[in-house]
Order: sequence, then structure tokens, then C-alpha cells
Amino acid sequence: MDTPTTQRLASQVGGHAGVMTTEDGSLLIKPALPRELHFYQALQQDPALEVLREFTPKFLGTLKLEGKVDPAKTDNLAEAVLEPAGAEKDMYSVKSLRDRAADHCVRYLQSLVLENLSFSFLKPNILDVKLGTVLYDETAPPEKVARMEKAARDTTSFEKGIRLTGFQVSLPIRAYFISNPSLRPIASQVYDNITSQPVNTPKAYGKSIKASQLGEGIAKFFPVGLPEAEPSAEPTPSSGLPRETLVPVLRAIREEIEVIREAFASLELRMVGGSLLIIYEADWTRADEAIKQYLEGEEEEDEDEEGDEEEEESSKPKSGPPFTVKLIDFAHTSVVPGKGPDEGVLLGMDTVLNLLDARLAAITP
Ligand code: ADP
Ligand code: MN
Repeated sequence: MDTPTTQRLASQVGGHAGVMTTEDGSLLIKPALPRELHFYQALQQDPALEVLREFTPKFLGTLKLEGKVDPAKTDNLAEAVLEPAGAEKDMYSVKSLRDRAADHCVRYLQSLVLENLSFSFLKPNILDVKLGTVLYDETAPPEKVARMEKAARDTTSFEKGIRLTGFQVSLPIRAYFISNPSLRPIASQVYDNITSQPVNTPKAYGKSIKASQLGEGIAKFFPVGLPEAEPSAEPTPSSGLPRETLVPVLRAIREEIEVIREAFASLELRMVGGSLLIIYEADWTRADEAIKQYLEGEEEEDEDEEGDEEEEESSKPKSGPPFTVKLIDFAHTSVVPGKGPDEGVLLGMDTVLNLLDARLAAITP
């Protein structure tokens, strides 16, 4: 049996430090507060929450540290056992949790093991959008309530139901050369889209902008690259996917968020401090192939609905998805029977839908 070691999640764009992945990068290990643990467990069992399951990362179980943990002797954390969740009967063991323990001073003894949503992407562009107008839960002491109300009012959260928590965008190496004054003279000699670097926009940006600037933020996350038909044109530092790839990707992401909104509207939850995690493929070739396959798949689904003969699953090997959108971070989510849906989160989802519409309108010729 594999005994993977852990490492820091390099592509973490928001939240508290300490999210880890297994060595192969496929699984994510997040130190868990009891509430988030309970939520993920309820998500597997409670029929009332079932509609949300497909819009959250797969939950594989919890990591429970064995034995007594002494923060001074993090060597004690060398052994841990994963308790499999639901139908997942695979057992994993994780050898080294020293890094995580150092970060968290062993405040958490339990960790969630989740699917790493960025794993199947070659160059994932990742955006964490914090949802909701209320950023404190009912257990918060009065001073925290006051602090978090101010935090919401001082940012886009209160008015729009979202804050851009943070994002990562892969830029082609040419764009780097152009954005760097000392390299600019030779930028025109760099033609390839082979090498690229993820560039992170930290939380200070999303906290600083006004509601009227959210569109600029979305444009930074969905930059348009130059069509290959114009190789002589100078790329800008914001070079992204070519327009003909980006447009269908944006449309599909928009559709998915609309479906998530509908599911969320049917639930009586209070999701405090949770996020929409939006990931899309930034590698030109891979994104182009993936979105074409995705659209073909949708067409086949439509045909099936019309009662046509079942078609064989496409035999082409799938290289990866064009995008994924999921709800994450349930550290302060509670079920509130009889209280109706979370209007602040729904407002946030509507804001995201409007921003995507505006971006689509801006880049569609
Ligand atoms: P926190 O409670 O510290 O805010 P989050 O659950 O929001 O933790 O996760 C923090 C960050 O880790 C996210 O912004 C995202 O970049 C990354 N992340 C969280 N869950 C996943 C996941 N399932 N797959 C990929 N990345 C994730
Ligand atoms: Mn978070």
C-alpha cells in the first residue's frame, strides 16, 4: 500500500496556511474545525443535502492522528490513519504531518481528506470567490460580530455578496518579458506559449477594490490572449486563452454556476465565509481540446434527452476538464431548518453571474 508523504498545496489562493496535498497531488488535506467535519459527513448521509454533493469536492475521509500529540515534539505526528468515508473503502496512511503541525501548533487533531480540484489541470487558473454578506456565524462573540460587519462593509461583500479572495493566473513567458522593463527589448524574440508561470494576486487586492472594480478583477482572471492568426502582434502582460477558446469556457462556467445557484436556493443553510472555487485550464492546446470535448458531450446529452439511441461513450481519451466550479470551505456553515435559503450567498452568486455576462459581452466581437 502507498504511504504518501504530504506537501504544501502550492496552488492555494486563499484561506489559512496549512492546506496540504499528498505527494502525488491528487488529494488535499485540510486541518478541520469540527463544524466543517460535521458538514462533510452530513453531506454524505443527509438526503436534504444531497443536491449539493456534486457541487462540492469529493470527500474521502478524515485523517485522525493517533496517540497523544505534544506540540513540542512534532515527531509524534509521524503516524496518522485515514478513516474512509462512505463508500470509499481505500485506506491510506500519511507519514509526515510535521509541516502542518508546525503551522497549526496542533490546534486541529482532525483533518479532512478531499479531492484536489486543481489536480487534473495542466495549468490551472484558480479563483476563490468568498460568498455572502454575513461573515460571522452565530457563535461569534460581540467584538467579532462588530469586526466582521465592518470587514463586510469595507469591502465588496456587503453590497455585492462576494469578495475576490485571491486568484492565480498562468501567464505565458512572453507576457513576462513584456511586463518586465529590463526584458522588454528582447520580448519580441520570445514566441512560444510553452513555458508559463502562475502569478498570484493575494487577498489585499480583493479587499481593496470597490464594487465598481469587480469587473476589472474578473477581467484579470479571464484575460484574453492573442489569436494565433496574429503572431506578429505584441502580446500584452495579460495574455490569456485565445478569445475563441475563452468565450465557450466562460459560457460553460456561467451555466454551471447557474445550476449551483438553483441547487443552493433549495437549501436552508447559512454558509459563512465559504467560497466558489473556479478553476479553468490555461494551457491553450489542452483548453481548446477540453472545451470541444465538453461541448460534444453536452450535444450527445441533448440527443439522448430527445430519445435518440444511446450512443457509446466517446472513446477518445480525455486529457482533462476545461474547467471546474465547486463550493468549498464549510468551516462556518450550518443547517437552519425553516429559515429559508442564504440570501447573501445567493446575492453573491447573482453578482458572479452578472460579472461573467459582462465579461462575455466585453470579449465577444
Ligand atoms: P480556509 O478555511 O483556510 O479559508 P479553504 O477551504 O477556503 O480554507 O481553502 C483555502 C484554499 O485552499 C482555497 O482558497 C483554495 O485555493 C485551496 N483549496 C481548498 N479546497 C480545495 C480543493 N478541494 N481543491 C483544490 N484547492 C482547494
Ligand atoms: Mn476559505
